[in-house]
Amino acid sequence: MTVDALPDWRAALPWPAPDAHKHARGRLGVVSGRATQTGAARLAARGGLRIGAGLVRILCPPDAAAVIAPTIEAIMLTPFGSIEALFEAAESLDAVVIGPAAGVNEPTQGNLRVLAETGAVLVVDADGLTAFEHRPAELFELLDRDDVLTPHTGEFERLFPGLLEAGREAAAREAAARAGAVVVLKGPETVIAAPDGRLAVNDNGTPWLATAGTGDVLAGMIGGLAAQRMDSFEAARAAVWMHAEAARAFGPGLIAEDLPGRLPAVLASLY
Ligand code: AMP
Ligand code: MG
Repeated sequence: MTVDALPDWRAALPWPAPDAHKHARGRLGVVSGRATQTGAARLAARGGLRIGAGLVRILCPPDAAAVIAPTIEAIMLTPFGSIEALFEAAESLDAVVIGPAAGVNEPTQGNLRVLAETGAVLVVDADGLTAFEHRPAELFELLDRDDVLTPHTGEFERLFPGLLEAGREAAAREAAARAGAVVVLKGPETVIAAPDGRLAVNDNGTPWLATAGTGDVLAGMIGGLAAQRMDSFEAARAAVWMHAEAARAFGPGLIAEDLPGRLPAVLASLY
């Protein structure tokens, strides 16, 4: 694979140091949905692991553990039966993805509230966003400036009604300012905005990405880079570019499961 114009976030990519240790390479958590909705967390976890997080742990409701355990190898699993147990598990993580198939419900809100009290960088996607559609101000209050929201157009419209009328770039910029967090407005062209005004548009996407689960992989990839302490805006830009590049390398027939396995070649092109 050739990279024509070297992307300017490349210098910020976190490569493992010679004395690297798995705990020092970034510890990522992914919150899983219930037993019937665990695939999204696996996709995110695999994206995070493949992009280089040293340790990835799925945090799941107890009923989901027996479903997930036989389907993972290098990914660890921590069932949590209470909000206190979730807090304890997340305290030793550098970043946490919450939202993919998490459920649009009160438990997802409660999980997000408690995760916001830990030191982990949050990547809030999918149901984690929609769970707050009637109380966006509360979500924004919970977020730090290095947290990341990853809405597709529909999720964005629910959290920021009417903003898209200003155009996608202006909308993403205003959303990041309002949320006080990095906003990744996903679509054929993805706009990435930081609360300090930085803005980037990614245009190497492919419509083969328009298939279920690809957004979950992307959330995990952003989390995997953020867990390695890459600046969240740069992490989001890098992950969005690599996600699209992996999809282009695969080509027709892509499904979300194919993306993590394509990342090593994309990373190698940047090394
Ligand atoms: P989600 O909607 O959460 O499943 O995420 C879908 C992913 O696929 C995002 O990364 C989008 O940017 C990407 N995507 C969806 N449709 C297209 C498209 N037509 N062209 C390029 N990328 C797309
Ligand atoms: Mg999605």
